[in-house]
Amino acid sequence: MPRTVLIGDKTLWAGGHPPGHPLRPGRLRDTWEMLHAYGAFDAPDTRIVPPRPPTDDELAMFHTREYINVVRRLSRGELMANPTRYNFGEGDNPVFEEMFESESLKVGAALVAAELLLRDEADVAFSFAGGLHHAGRDFASGFCVFGDGAVAIHRMLAEGWRVAYIDIDAHHGDGVQAAFYNDPRVLTISFHESGHYLFPGTGFTDELGEGDGRGFSVNVPLFPYTDDKTFVWAFDQVVPPLVERFAPDAVVAQLGVDAHWRDPLTHLALTTYGFEVLFRRIRQLAPRWLAVGGGGYDRAVVPRTWTLAWGVMSGQTFSNDLPKAIASDFDPPCLHDETVLALTDDQRQQAQTAAESAVAELKEALDF
Ligand SMILES: [Zn+2]
Repeated sequence: MPRTVLIGDKTLWAGGHPPGHPLRPGRLRDTWEMLHAYGAFDAPDTRIVPPRPPTDDELAMFHTREYINVVRRLSRGELMANPTRYNFGEGDNPVFEEMFESESLKVGAALVAAELLLRDEADVAFSFAGGLHHAGRDFASGFCVFGDGAVAIHRMLAEGWRVAYIDIDAHHGDGVQAAFYNDPRVLTISFHESGHYLFPGTGFTDELGEGDGRGFSVNVPLFPYTDDKTFVWAFDQVVPPLVERFAPDAVVAQLGVDAHWRDPLTHLALTTYGFEVLFRRIRQLAPRWLAVGGGGYDRAVVPRTWTLAWGVMSGQTFSNDLPKAIASDFDPPCLHDETVLALTDDQRQQAQTAAESAVAELKEALDF
């Protein structure tokens, strides 16, 4: 069995975004409780390792020193003339108490995961609190203050590894793409709802990288109502051939689950079944796999889907009925979806046609 580690403890959701913000700390607590209710860490070769705070030098592998200090000062309640310069303010990126501690700990969690892989102490490490793929070098964006994935990838690059980054969140992984846009040591592949319909408005097929990094940035924009069949088809067309050609030392995968049909912020139509297929595909591609969390804003979807992810990672099959201790807390009281979104034939066809044209453009541009 693969040696599988979950990076977590209760400090990860003790603070966090303020009440009313979509990135509720409770989504992490719910996942933790569901995994424990299933006895998900009783299996051989599974364990939990706590996160640690990162040093400033570690944050500075991706972020500017100025930005790190700005986040620290805002977090302490120091008044600054223009927090909007760093994209803090009302709405997506509010300043909140102990923001530095809570958000930097998510970077530390991803670093712990990366180090377990680098030291060959794990085959799979899942930092479910992370996946903050919109953060910029010197600005917050899309609920993301620090980019845990970008920092963890830099940590691997420092040891000479080459990394394939696969992002299945409903939003384009613009922060990670930008971090390595000129870098041929990192292949980034993002599947997401098209920027014509959803934040951040980027992630089109012609964003292919620059300079030495040309050809190592890949985007598959999808039409609203893309379902399991079309998403998995597009994934199979693009990811195995490109990742096999790239031959990375590790795969870093962002497992945002906001492409689920119940998600209130997006318009894709995946089910838990589709996600489980995608997790299996990534597992097959990745001899070493650092998984991070990501988006997901429906209370029932996040813990159920990440529990399924942990099952794939650690080779366990959990019963579809939720354990009695937690069953009444979730609707439906089972791991997999009981219902799906009813789509019209037109909606399915439009989404499949859009995916086919995106895949064709990529095959032409990247010769695979
Ligand atoms: Zn998202």
